[in-house]
Amino acid sequence: MKYSITAAIIGLSVALVSNLFSSDALAKSTIADDKFRQLEEVLPTPTIYRTASGAPGHKYWQQQVNYEINIKIDDKTQQLTGYETLNYQNNSPDTLRYIWLQLDQNKLKRNSDSKLSTAAKALKKVTYKSVRKMIETDKFDGGYHITKVTARNGKPLQFTINDTMLRIDLAKPLKSGDDVEFNVAWNYQLHEQKVLGGRSGYEYFKEDDNYLYEVASWFPRAVAYYDVTGWQNKQFLGRGEFALEFGDYDVKITVPSDHIVAATGVLQNPKKVLTKTQRKRYEQAKTAKKPLHIVTAEEALANEKSRATTSKTWHFKAENVRDFAFASSRKFIWDAQGYQHGDNFTMAMSFYPNEGNPMWEQYSTEAIIHTMEQYSKYTFAYPYPVSISVNGPVGGMEYPMITFNGPRPTLNKKTGEKTYSRKTKYFLIGVIIHEVGHNYFPMIVNSDERQWTWMDEGLNTFLQYVAEQAWEDDYPSRRGDAANITAYMKSSNQVPIMTNSESILQFGNNAYGKPATALNILRETVMGRELFDFAFKEYAQRWKFKRPTPADFFRTMEDASAVDLDWFFRGWFYTTDHVDIGLGNIHLYTVDSQNPDTEESWLRALENEKPTFISDILNKGNWIRTHDKPELLDFYNEHDQFTATNAARNKYNANMKKLQPWQKELLLNQSNFYLIDFNNIGGLVMPIILDITYADGSIEHMKLPAEIWRQNSKKASKLLIRDKEITAITIDKNWETADVNVNNNYWPARPIKSRFNLYKRKKEDMMRDYNKKLKVEKDKTKQQDKEGTEQQNTDS
Ligand SMILES: [Zn+2]
Repeated sequence: MKYSITAAIIGLSVALVSNLFSSDALAKSTIADDKFRQLEEVLPTPTIYRTASGAPGHKYWQQQVNYEINIKIDDKTQQLTGYETLNYQNNSPDTLRYIWLQLDQNKLKRNSDSKLSTAAKALKKVTYKSVRKMIETDKFDGGYHITKVTARNGKPLQFTINDTMLRIDLAKPLKSGDDVEFNVAWNYQLHEQKVLGGRSGYEYFKEDDNYLYEVASWFPRAVAYYDVTGWQNKQFLGRGEFALEFGDYDVKITVPSDHIVAATGVLQNPKKVLTKTQRKRYEQAKTAKKPLHIVTAEEALANEKSRATTSKTWHFKAENVRDFAFASSRKFIWDAQGYQHGDNFTMAMSFYPNEGNPMWEQYSTEAIIHTMEQYSKYTFAYPYPVSISVNGPVGGMEYPMITFNGPRPTLNKKTGEKTYSRKTKYFLIGVIIHEVGHNYFPMIVNSDERQWTWMDEGLNTFLQYVAEQAWEDDYPSRRGDAANITAYMKSSNQVPIMTNSESILQFGNNAYGKPATALNILRETVMGRELFDFAFKEYAQRWKFKRPTPADFFRTMEDASAVDLDWFFRGWFYTTDHVDIGLGNIHLYTVDSQNPDTEESWLRALENEKPTFISDILNKGNWIRTHDKPELLDFYNEHDQFTATNAARNKYNANMKKLQPWQKELLLNQSNFYLIDFNNIGGLVMPIILDITYADGSIEHMKLPAEIWRQNSKKASKLLIRDKEITAITIDKNWETADVNVNNNYWPARPIKSRFNLYKRKKEDMMRDYNKKLKVEKDKTKQQDKEGTEQQNTDS
């Protein structure tokens, strides 16, 4: 449709003109739904501990807890027995009368809150593995046996266990600035991870009768006590991982003497636990250009057959970590490569059984170094002396300096051939990047995992995407690409990202995929790389070795970029709205010259553009009276209604005399005033990315900031003044905003392409099936093979 505007309007200011233009679009504006309302009323009030700019405040404090631990693993019974001394430094301004410890193993007790509060889901199609897990979980009565809690002087301390939490009542109140020491003795039964799942456990290898241990959440750990929650007293139900304090660890691990141990921290007694050859290789690996074997595949195979009757104690120390994990087995191959980065030196190391090769020796250590190199660019230099990737039963899980990663190739038991799928290859590289990346979030930027999953998983998955894209061309990242999140974004069974870990629906999409994609969009589309990278790095730098909350992240991102992002965080993190911006009407205005000769012909042309009414078409050629009697024709048959009169011309000439030269010039303006209407169907306000094609074939790219929606979040219009004619318009050409419906993004519209899938209907015939000859089973191993190689995919 074309309209003509009068000179009176043109005489007004440009700002007003655009308002008048869009009066149509604004007609049904809803004011209540203010997407740009600031978040201050939602975010916690800033304190002396956390500033309004998102930084640690001038009185920021956190506790320090140091551990001395002695433990032993019994390879015959898979029992772990331990004794620890905790030194609790109270840096808070508060006096503490008791101290809470996390007993995460108690989740596996028969009547744990976790087991009792697991709501059943309707079952129809279930894997063998998950039914076995259900049955065995129900049966398994794991958890800690706390055998002793004593004060420094050896006197017993009162303690109370509440499900996964242990309260120790101190002999005297612990004042601000003081520290207290106490001891805990315990034991528990390790579980078979492949059966019960979880983030730790052992794997049993039937073929060679060996165990591989991945041990985590294995000692009573001091719960986080901080300015926002006090004691983080949420029970461990299974998802919200943990919230702990930084501290120094001195850990002695006793295992069979033919085991190789990988652990958080630096080995203190290599002479006692490693052979001379192993120590020499370790030294060589420090400056090697590629991973060197400290234990080779052949040596690991030979090791598998030994059965030590003696034990060895591996001694590790780790500084400034929030947890400690380790792995132990006689099956381990061990490779390592030193990584010098600036003043920091890190030994990248991988531990894996022969079952992991050939993938593990090719990818693992390389992926560790790649992760540190990439993540450091966007955060801070990796500060720890070692970074480890272990292959075992756990699909993917992170601890300080050490990660557990599951993918393995497939073994053809008949031929001995090992192959792997494309999915397994990228899952292995991706999961190592992801888990090693967790050293940054949340192992160093120590967010409260028991409360928020997105603060570590979302931020980490975002950087995982960035690091993956730096691995090889077109790396098939599972999460991060905006188009990959659209199916989730329009799904109905959703909660906002800002939901406690345990209550999240569609866990992987909510806590990993959506925040990672949101950050990617923030970086690429909303803020630009320069502003985003600076602000994101600022957040990492501010909060490394400290404990941030969501508000600290939101505030820092704005504080360091001078971009108001409240609308973005409000929409993406506090609602389940999605992006669906569509094109509405496109209006073309030109200036009314007021010259009757010009204007009447313009009106005539417009009239001629209108379609001919059906009767007029059918009447064409019919007899009409004036054919026979032309004398009936007169002035009005010669001059149509679009005829300029002298009266009009006189009026025009008189008017022109009253106008200033610049006003006259405007009346001659030949520009096209395009008014483009946009509809926000999804609810999320986002920048509108436009590609405009002109009649001469040229394309103009422009981005309208999200603030275009600030007065009406449902409809917006944009005025484009162009000499050229527009022939096509596209919104979000590169699919960068996660627009869930791109079919309304094109003018002219495009067909929606799809395929019919043809299939044959199988005729049901019970008699035929009954009469079929019964096959005698020949090969029993076939089905077992298939189950044994089932791809695991733990989200951790
Ligand atoms: Zn993760």
